Amino acid sequence: MTSEPQQFASDNYSGICPEAWAAMEEANHGHAPAYGDDLWTARASDAFRTLFETDCEVFFAFNGTAANSLALASLCQSYHSVICSDAAHVETDECGAPEFFSNGSKLLVAPSEGGKLTPEAIRAVATARSDIHFPKARVVTVTQPTETGQVYELDELRAISAVCRELGLNLHMDGARFANACASLGCSPADMTWRAGVDVLCFGGTKNGMAAGEAILFFNRKLAEDFDYRCKQAGQLASKMRFLSAPWVGMLESGAWLRNAGHGNACARRLQQQIAGLPGLEVMFPVQANAVFVRMVEQRMAALRDRGWRFYTFIGGGARFMFAWDAEPQRVDQLAADLRQIASVAATFIQPRA
Ligand SMILES: *Cc1c(COP(=O)(O)O)cnc(C)c1O
Repeated sequence: MTSEPQQFASDNYSGICPEAWAAMEEANHGHAPAYGDDLWTARASDAFRTLFETDCEVFFAFNGTAANSLALASLCQSYHSVICSDAAHVETDECGAPEFFSNGSKLLVAPSEGGKLTPEAIRAVATARSDIHFPKARVVTVTQPTETGQVYELDELRAISAVCRELGLNLHMDGARFANACASLGCSPADMTWRAGVDVLCFGGTKNGMAAGEAILFFNRKLAEDFDYRCKQAGQLASKMRFLSAPWVGMLESGAWLRNAGHGNACARRLQQQIAGLPGLEVMFPVQANAVFVRMVEQRMAALRDRGWRFYTFIGGGARFMFAWDAEPQRVDQLAADLRQIASVAATFIQPRA
């Protein structure tokens, strides 16, 4: 089967990176105990503990929706609430799974600039009501990097966790692209999580170059009580667990997790640099991870689609481009060239929308 030209509509259009694939293949020799009682799962868990420089509890789930939902459910009771940004994946793209798996814990949405929560916004939501008729705030969830490709600086995370501690809130991090944030800031995973006050992290493997799988890391081990039962009940306990854990060994021990992310980030910057300042195109958010969002009139988007490009517009109405571990720089340049052409040609006859 011939493959189609690369698209940048989503980072999960990509395939499996060689390091993850090799570990899967190595795991595919002979038999091993089921349900996580195998050596690959122990080794992957230890690789996380080494990378994060702490003795955290580690669990594996099939995807990010389950990881986020089960993690959040473990941080609160059904009568509690979870504060998130208005652009958060848990709010906009998980079909109510966090509420479902927590038996009704309500998401409280805070207004945000491109998906970034602030201590002030958290405080305002958490303290707006304290009466018995409203679900009690118990958790804050941040997405690192945000759905718009922005990265929280360490100082910003520390300020958020300080408010959380003051108000008695647990702090969860949706790290579906956690590696991209680490590559962007060049800081250690420990500094970005438990040293900054994060209690639980969902670390995304799928968008980082695996076939499937997310890891849930509890830095506050008390919060992990009975989490294994929660995963099983939710249908997230893999019987052949080694095929969910082995790729993590490949990713973490080889350093591919960070290389892959660094490459995606570099491709995003490569596109941004080539289209910056073009007439009629606006890069909507600071490019700090592997995403570039471009605002343009509908006719230009149609012209871009005519040239064969696929992209989504569900965040903020602009065209979203996401770069994965395998993004081809020449293909990025082709996209930039098409955008340049569309900007120059169309500007002469496309009327701005009234
Ligand atoms: C992709 C993504 C997830 C996980 O999505 P699944 O499709 O359930 O794996 C979670 N959070 C964010 C911010 C994402 O981009």
